[in-house]
Amino acid sequence: MSDEVEIRVPDIGDFTDVPVIEIHVGAGDEVSVEDPLVTLESDKATMDVPAPFGGVVRQLRVSIGDRVSEGSVLLTLELDGAGPSAAGAPPYDEAAAAAPAQAAAPPAAAPSPEGGEHDAQVLVLGSGPGGYTAAFRAADLGLRTVLVERYESLGGVCLNVGCIPSKALLHAARVVAEAEEMASKGITFGKPRFDLAALLAWKQTVVDKLTGGLTGLARQRKVEVVHGVGRFVGPNTLAVGDRTITFDSCIIAAGSQAAMLPDLPDDERVIDSTGALSPADVPKRLLVIGGGIIGLEMATVYDALGSRVTVVELMSQLIPGCDSDLVRPLQQRISERYEAIHLETSVASVKAQKGGLKVELSDGSSSVYDRVLVAVGRVPNGHAIDATAAGVAVDERGFIPVDRQMRTNVPWIYAIGDIVGGPMLAHKASHEGKVAAEVIAGEAGAEFDPRAIPSVAYTDPEVAWMGLTETAARSDGVAYEKAVFPWAASGRALSLGRADGITKLLFEPGSRRLLGAGIVGVGAGELIAETVHALEMGADAEDLALTIHPHPTLSETIGFAAEVAHGSITDLLVRR
Ligand code: FAD
Repeated sequence: MSDEVEIRVPDIGDFTDVPVIEIHVGAGDEVSVEDPLVTLESDKATMDVPAPFGGVVRQLRVSIGDRVSEGSVLLTLELDGAGPSAAGAPPYDEAAAAAPAQAAAPPAAAPSPEGGEHDAQVLVLGSGPGGYTAAFRAADLGLRTVLVERYESLGGVCLNVGCIPSKALLHAARVVAEAEEMASKGITFGKPRFDLAALLAWKQTVVDKLTGGLTGLARQRKVEVVHGVGRFVGPNTLAVGDRTITFDSCIIAAGSQAAMLPDLPDDERVIDSTGALSPADVPKRLLVIGGGIIGLEMATVYDALGSRVTVVELMSQLIPGCDSDLVRPLQQRISERYEAIHLETSVASVKAQKGGLKVELSDGSSSVYDRVLVAVGRVPNGHAIDATAAGVAVDERGFIPVDRQMRTNVPWIYAIGDIVGGPMLAHKASHEGKVAAEVIAGEAGAEFDPRAIPSVAYTDPEVAWMGLTETAARSDGVAYEKAVFPWAASGRALSLGRADGITKLLFEPGSRRLLGAGIVGVGAGELIAETVHALEMGADAEDLALTIHPHPTLSETIGFAAEVAHGSITDLLVRR
């Protein structure tokens, strides 16, 4: 005998009247316990309503766009034999907690030396872009996966205090700058008025939407999320608070944290990037220590908000390591906007005073700032997880060495993301995460072997590069041919009022195969992707030159630069 029951929206916390944004089932579909039925979206998160019982959907009672609250009927379900043990749906969180263990997939992971059934086939430590990607891929490949994260919110540095909140604020900065730029073109807006609390609240909704989405995705995949600080206590065991979790294989994705300079005063006006993303107010004068990507992105935000910004950088150029011709247009623009840029300069001392932070620089100058942002790089968390208890080697700086399959010196323990070194970038971490999960699942040929990892400074103008740089080519003695297209000859750049850019391509002499690219200008971060694709596909100058780019776009500058190399450019006069 089978019964038909109404499935209602369970306890969804404080949310009421939230829209249904997706319906995953239709009349006649068979569902199992925990299968997602519908997705609801609040202003903070998206959440799936899982099936509390197995059965066959008889009638849908909602459509996309309908607004529902706790208790609203979603559908009717004809129960299979098992039926509910109690009437009504269990509360949302309980439902998630009561999720049955995923049907055991063949344990393709590296064998455990201890033998026996472990709690997880794959345990992932850290839920940043590396960790959550690895956990989700492992689960999708049929592995019973546990994800350990010390914070309540998933997503790591990138989603919570890195890429995403910084880009939300940088978008606001771009809008302010664009409005200002139009003054010379006949449109004058009033001086912007900032409601800092509202701006930060909007930034947080962006973060919450993404991190809430991850929680939903983990639940859908039946990845068990354990919140707490994890530390290794053995080669197959991680302790999280009072609980110990054993694993067949582990992926360490514990990331990095902001580096601090020694001898700085313990003062709330000395901040790192996390503090800079959630300021209590806008400082009148801000000193940014470190002219790398993170420091300059934050400088862009504060400049737009009205701070007078000074940047101090130890090396002889901003964004050290990046080709100087790419940095030049950025430096030119910000030199006009910022109070000062000190290159080849270090901070000799910072003293906390009542009226501000008195900073002395190595060039002998001194000044008082309302806030000092320390953006001098990031240190990996390798020494903070007791990796040695699992026998995992960690180098002096805290990095965990791995091979191309992301395997550490312990064959069943892998590491990915910022903690393994290389460019500390989210997209590198997530690709490594997929590789580690696939290797554990026994996927043939899985290894991390990209031809290029793009880097982007989301400054104004943006600076982006990938593959070979001229700086690296010169220091490593690599021969290359260079082709540059100045944005002053781009119709699109001129019509945006932003001709301050260049697109540069580096080719292998003879074959003219693409080796690297660098772009500076508005939107360079979006443009660089085409060149990464071209490099991965082994494209040469002719391939890029013959690719028809839409007109007028900034993407044309890539085609034009290739035409410069190919010798077919007509939009410039190149004397040979
Ligand atoms: P993380 O994101 O660092 O995540 C590690 C996770 O592990 C964290 O959630 C942490 O809480 C958890 N964890 C650590 N130890 C433990 C433990 N013992 N127990 C439990 N959990 C633990 N990169 C880009 O590609 N593009 C950008 O635009 C960009 N912008 C950035 C802006 C800022 C301001 C900052 C700070 C960084 C930015 N990055 C950007 C870098 C990017 O955030 C990192 O490269 C990326 O987050 C690394 O991912 P991950 O998975 O290795 O580690």
